[in-house]
Amino acid sequence: MRPLPLRLVAPLVLAAALAVSAALVIASGLPEGTVGAASHRFGLDGPLALPVALLAGAAVAMVSQLARLRLRAGGGLARPAWGEAAVVVLCASLPPALVPPVALAGFAAAHAVLHAVDRRAGQARPAREVVYGVAALTVAAALGALVEGTAMGRDPGDGLSPGLIGALVAAAAVHYLVTLALITARLVVTGGGTVRAVAGSMLGSTALMLVGNVAAGLVIVWACATSGFLLLLLPPVLWLMHQFYANRLGEDDERRTWAEFAEVARDLNRLDERDAALAGVAGAARLFRVPAARIVLAGGRAYGELPPGPVTTRPLTVGMVAVGELHLAGPEPRRTRDRLMLATFGEALAAALHDAITQDALRAMSERTTYDAVRDPLTGLLNRVALLARGDLRLGTRAPGAPVALLLLDVNDFKEVNNALGHTAGDDVLKVIAGRVLDSGNAGDLHARLGGDEFAILITDLAAGEADLALAAAVERARKLGAQIAAPMCIDGVALSKEASIGVVVAAAGSADLSELLRRADIAMYQAKDGAQPVAWYDPTRDDASTDRLALLAELREALAANAPGLEQLTLELQPAVALAGPAGASTTSGRITGVEALIRWRHPRRGKLSPAQFLPVVEASELIGPLTHWVLERAIILASGWRRAGLAVPVAVNISARSLVERQLPETVGELLGRHRLPAELLVLEITETVMLSSSPVVDDVLARLRRLGVQLAVDDFGTGYSAFTVLTRVPVQEVKIDREFVAQMLDAPKPGAIVQTTVDLARRLGLRVVAEGVENPEQRARLTELGCSAAQGFLFYPPMSPDALLAVLRERRQMRRRHLRAEGAG
Ligand code: C2E
Ligand code: CA
Ligand code: CA
Repeated sequence: MRPLPLRLVAPLVLAAALAVSAALVIASGLPEGTVGAASHRFGLDGPLALPVALLAGAAVAMVSQLARLRLRAGGGLARPAWGEAAVVVLCASLPPALVPPVALAGFAAAHAVLHAVDRRAGQARPAREVVYGVAALTVAAALGALVEGTAMGRDPGDGLSPGLIGALVAAAAVHYLVTLALITARLVVTGGGTVRAVAGSMLGSTALMLVGNVAAGLVIVWACATSGFLLLLLPPVLWLMHQFYANRLGEDDERRTWAEFAEVARDLNRLDERDAALAGVAGAARLFRVPAARIVLAGGRAYGELPPGPVTTRPLTVGMVAVGELHLAGPEPRRTRDRLMLATFGEALAAALHDAITQDALRAMSERTTYDAVRDPLTGLLNRVALLARGDLRLGTRAPGAPVALLLLDVNDFKEVNNALGHTAGDDVLKVIAGRVLDSGNAGDLHARLGGDEFAILITDLAAGEADLALAAAVERARKLGAQIAAPMCIDGVALSKEASIGVVVAAAGSADLSELLRRADIAMYQAKDGAQPVAWYDPTRDDASTDRLALLAELREALAANAPGLEQLTLELQPAVALAGPAGASTTSGRITGVEALIRWRHPRRGKLSPAQFLPVVEASELIGPLTHWVLERAIILASGWRRAGLAVPVAVNISARSLVERQLPETVGELLGRHRLPAELLVLEITETVMLSSSPVVDDVLARLRRLGVQLAVDDFGTGYSAFTVLTRVPVQEVKIDREFVAQMLDAPKPGAIVQTTVDLARRLGLRVVAEGVENPEQRARLTELGCSAAQGFLFYPPMSPDALLAVLRERRQMRRRHLRAEGAG
């Protein structure tokens, strides 16, 4: 409830004061006998007539206010009384000029007493409201007296004439209407509601009171005029009347109270704790006509403030669950009805709060799950699913054709951080990087962590225009981001810096969905990685191969991991090389097997048998080449050591990719494998392409030197394809040269390849190296190579690559043949 504003109280008090003083001025100039004339109606005469009339009038005014009835109207309480009866009596017994001061005295005395009683009970109304009420009654009484005085004129008449009754009724009606208007004004201002509604409800409940009051007033006047003894009948009559009023008003009030309660209770049903609590605070104040209420929830949160003073507290519980407490400013209600209502309201409020709190918790929970479903828990960035969903929404809002860009970032060698500093530090690094990703972007970007050390940024605010310009802008953003990522960071007191590879794709909105953009950015990102560049952008011409490539790598990783016996996808085929210049002109098949080359095969579950050319280039450009080389080395060494145990010792040759030669630990790996599988180092040949040998990288030189020191043999593979072919032979300590099969194939038809073969053979012979011709497919080639002095050959003419079992059979057969040959020689 709002406090009664001074602008309402002040004018009314002023009006009442003016009415009183004006009345007193008039009264002091009243012609003699006027008072007497009025009092004469009551049979009062003599010098005591005036004081008795004044005192009796004030007493009647005072008693008329002691009704202590209460009536709800609007948001407040009205206190209807028997004011009209008093006005009738005053107007009948006093000249109009004396009515206002006497009424004021009586009303003020009555309300002062009531206020004191209320205050002792702790239920006092604000003083301003009391003053307003007294002023309103006084003004109304003054106006009523004015009406009566005007009606009767200078001649007050004798006894209860019909004219006087009419004037008194008019005075009472004026008093009633003015009070009604002024109290309505107060209720509307303090409690809300419309003038119509408040005045209407007061009128409905008190109109009958007006009739009773006027009748009571007239009866008193008549009794006084007739016989003073009749006044003795007055108390029981008044008591009955009061009971009747109280009952009637009580019924009305009850009805309104519960209607109001229903309204307040309905308002409590909110989905939100705060809303429900605030509705409860407002509802309690309204329902219990208290200045303030406060709700303290079990969780500690509180709503509403209380002024100092007595407080009524009511626990709020639902079943066994304590929800909180309701505090009302003011003492415990005394009326049973109010206590009952407080209990009922408490129940409703507790239930509503409990519901709202549960709703809140549910909502928070579902928000949390949505958050978890959308956010990466470590960095708080969007996750992959959310990026896809929100990204597509974002793309949909761009004008068709407007450029959008996706940056895909992968941290280089992130594993190292985890390995060296542990996973917690790894997480910290990711968080720092996530922060930098976020900082680098604009507000409109979407930032996501796709998993592991992969991040993505969707940029949708590129200026529309030339596609090239948009690409340039996106690449520029990527470069900046790359530089930011590479800046040093401090993790656990360790300063470190991580670089990233960023793939950039720019597309016209509407031309591709987000998963397609991600796919393209992924390709670009791998291009960046392959090229050891911080940034690369998507080039559609390289797309198909690249997509295949990605799938391939994932599948190869699986194949390497799950290479269980019997289910192997990866296998080795073996192709022997045979000696050409055998003693006594060896025949095609009788050439001694000088070595066996291991060639990898991949029986792909969907694509069938894959040749190395179909997957090696991809693998060589990835981290997987290390595990793959290791796998081939181990398989080959196991096979060769098996042959040796079977008495069929023959060197096994393994192709070593360029990438593996820059791995410093390769010699250790090889040494370890040889030791573990008990194969003498000289039975292992490592075939290395000419171009790598010429790379003049100190790492490669060092690796080669250490391999050599192990006792492992080295062969120059694909010899002739490089440009400075011959220098390699003098620089690198190799034991074998394998002439590329291109030269062998063209050797007979073109002079230049023939010359190269010739020169190679000559040089190798002079350096004491074996020369193996690759890809020998026909006897003519074999004849020519033999003629040129080539020591060995490999090719379909002799043996195709074959399974380990097939090779074992060949080796056994070879041994048989040699034994037979030796026996024949011995016999011959
Ligand atoms: P490469 O080292 O030159 O291996 C010889 C290739 O020539 C093999 O092809 C073999 O099947 C093929 N070949 C053998 N005789 C003839 C012939 O008479 N005519 C013709 N036209 N071809 C013949 P493959 O097995 O497809 O291997 C291709 C390349 O893949 C190899 O060339 C080698 O560089 C690489 N490679 C094979 N296995 C491995 C491996 O385990 N590791 C690495 N790093 N590379 C491997
Ligand atoms: Ca080879
Ligand atoms: Ca070769």
